[in-house]
Amino acid sequence: MVQAEQEAVILQKAGLITIGKRPIPEIEDPNDVKVQIKATGICGSDVHYYKTGAIGDFVVKEPMVLGHESSGVVVEVGSKVQNVKVGDRVAIEPGIPSRYSEETMSGHYNLCPHMRFCATPPYDGTLLKYFLVPKDFVYKLEDHVSFEEGAIVEPLSVAVHANKLAKTTFGNVAVVFGAGPVGLLTGATASAFGALEIVFIDIFEHKLERAKQFKATHALRWKPHEKEADIVKEISKALGGRKPDVVFECSGAESCIRAAVKVCNRGGSIVQVGMGKDDVLFPITELGVKELTFHGSFRYYKGDYKDAVSLITTGKIDVRPLITRRFPFAEAVEAYKYNVDHAAEITKTIIEGPE
Ligand SMILES: [Zn+2]
Repeated sequence: MVQAEQEAVILQKAGLITIGKRPIPEIEDPNDVKVQIKATGICGSDVHYYKTGAIGDFVVKEPMVLGHESSGVVVEVGSKVQNVKVGDRVAIEPGIPSRYSEETMSGHYNLCPHMRFCATPPYDGTLLKYFLVPKDFVYKLEDHVSFEEGAIVEPLSVAVHANKLAKTTFGNVAVVFGAGPVGLLTGATASAFGALEIVFIDIFEHKLERAKQFKATHALRWKPHEKEADIVKEISKALGGRKPDVVFECSGAESCIRAAVKVCNRGGSIVQVGMGKDDVLFPITELGVKELTFHGSFRYYKGDYKDAVSLITTGKIDVRPLITRRFPFAEAVEAYKYNVDHAAEITKTIIEGPE
């Protein structure tokens, strides 16, 4: 029997994306759900693989289907699936850990060394029509939540995870370095968790402009050649002397990492969300004497996806202003080119479909 095929957006190698073919998957595991993909966000990581063919140790050696920020509609369920049914609209959590690793057993499945994460080599992503997911990695969307919003659940889960690590709570002052999609969502989530002041810092004015739609109480531009000490002073001035309890470094820039340590209040928390250079010059003495907590942060784990869906469902966070462009599935290659060419401008591009 010849297996039926479907179109897929495939990264062949660095610099080359094509629309090619992949088999349509059949449900074999009774706990699996087959989802017809309806919307997929383009992520910075996809664009990075497209440009360079690698992120750290993850190297694209074989052609790989792109996409990991997806939502869709359930079209078939295995015999042991009860939490969703055919016709349900769902967000897809795109990383499936081993069910048996120590990390998974202790609740930190994001750290599972056997993680199969969509569009992270060698695993295929979600930019095709039909995709299989284990039943506990799909999250039902209410009728008033769109497929596009369902796609944004993925980066929002990163923001939720970062805020849980920071233990953001009512009355906090939060600072966010980097007003890209994850930075904006992290600030908005800090607000939803109870932070009363949210300071965004970026080098681009238009990004800071958008931050106002993501609960910014202050949006400060880090001007070219401006020193770390100056931006730290500006933040303190904007806050009227109050010091941030939680600082989110979402840019990956070395100078922002250092400024995060300098601006954070004694006893406060810094969460490193952005990725940049492998090694940086770091003010470790200041970290010590201020007794700061500096957290690494990687994707999301138990409860984060569910909480991200709730933040959207309840209207606590409106993610829609993040979406700046839409392309139909047939124009997915153009969508990626657009993201490369407009890297400084764009926030979130959505690929719709395929039909
Ligand atoms: Zn992503």
